[in-house]
Amino acid sequence: MWYNEIGGGMYDYLFVGLPHRDGRAIVYREHGQVYARVLGKLLGLTTEMASCFEYPSPPLWVTRLTPYVRDTRVAYYDLAEFDTDSISHTPLAAVYLLSCFTSTFHRAVVFAQMMKARDRDCKVVLGGSHVVGSAVDDAVALGLFDVVVRGEGEAYMECAESFRDRVYDAAPVSLDLLPMPDYSLIRDRERFIDVTVMTSRGCPYGCIYCLEGERPYRVKSIDRVVAEVEDALAEFPRANFVRFNDSSFTARFDIVELCAELTVLEGMCQTRANIMSDNVLSALMGANIRTINVGCETGSAQLLHRLGKRIDKEMIVSSLRRAKEKGFVVNTYWMVGVPGEKPETVRETADFIRYLFDRGLTDLAEMSICVPYPGTPLHRDPRDIEIEHDVLYHRYRENDLSCTRTREMSADEIYDAWRQTARVITDRMATRL
Ligand code: SF4
Repeated sequence: MWYNEIGGGMYDYLFVGLPHRDGRAIVYREHGQVYARVLGKLLGLTTEMASCFEYPSPPLWVTRLTPYVRDTRVAYYDLAEFDTDSISHTPLAAVYLLSCFTSTFHRAVVFAQMMKARDRDCKVVLGGSHVVGSAVDDAVALGLFDVVVRGEGEAYMECAESFRDRVYDAAPVSLDLLPMPDYSLIRDRERFIDVTVMTSRGCPYGCIYCLEGERPYRVKSIDRVVAEVEDALAEFPRANFVRFNDSSFTARFDIVELCAELTVLEGMCQTRANIMSDNVLSALMGANIRTINVGCETGSAQLLHRLGKRIDKEMIVSSLRRAKEKGFVVNTYWMVGVPGEKPETVRETADFIRYLFDRGLTDLAEMSICVPYPGTPLHRDPRDIEIEHDVLYHRYRENDLSCTRTREMSADEIYDAWRQTARVITDRMATRL
């Protein structure tokens, strides 16, 4: 854990980092280590550099919001270990700022409880991708958060003194008008060898399990992106790897022009099978963005359709083949427990993953369990899937069994299917070493 010392006393604002990795991530640790080694080997990185893929990058949300509180007494406290001792050593602050995913919401609750018990006058502000839709009401009902920010944090930070309303509806912002990320609260910069840049927000697609498609899609201008990349690399002396964390980086209408302006030493982005034309792939390679993450999700043609992916298996195979012919390192994303999942469809997914590995069409893969995240179409309309609402999200852990069941698979069976398909992936990746 690390934070800026101010010589005692109390901070005006304290950004608090909630650790993301536990539960399934721990079960999945072997996978993470093999993943990092294979990726490092394929990119020709040293072992030390490759290990960065096992750890988080500098927290983007803190750098985005720091400009709004730059002139106050402010710090970032990274709770890398989420235990009672670490939480109780949290520096005193008037306002604690938290950002949470669904998988870290339970930690936001524990943290707020402990801070309120220590100082009932402190304020706790909660934002992040979890607090949308009905999750906002659930968070408010707990009575622990002074403000729940629904939407993008920058709009709230412009009026951060406002504690009148329990829910702050932050309108989508125009990305080029935002202040540049401010890295001044990030300490120990030598430990980072990768940086994260987002060139857009939202996604023009509408996969039913994903929140990104629910947000208006906006892109930053090319000049702005180039400036952010240069700034980020300048701030971290050892960094030479840029993760473009856009949900669908190649969905940008100007992706070819943007790549022509970028000079990254090594880069990674996320894309999907229908936006991987020859032209786009050549542009990525020209910018040294040599690693692509492709959302495939399932090997069942029927379930691909049910998920609203607007891609099919043939398209996946042909786009991955094009990418491999051009020399990309390819990582594919997969899920089990999707609506309509049954043992046969899990087998289809495992078979499809084996097929892609055996033909050299994917080098790496990641498996997760489908979660009906609040705010998504799947959460609003959970047809063919039953959400275990006794597993409320403030008690949800990533290492729980699946929080859903389908008509033909129980939560236990979905969890077992996840473990087995993850094993298939880890074993297949290990053959690359
Ligand atoms: S899963 Fe990917 S392509 Fe689908 S809506 Fe989300 S970000 Fe977009």
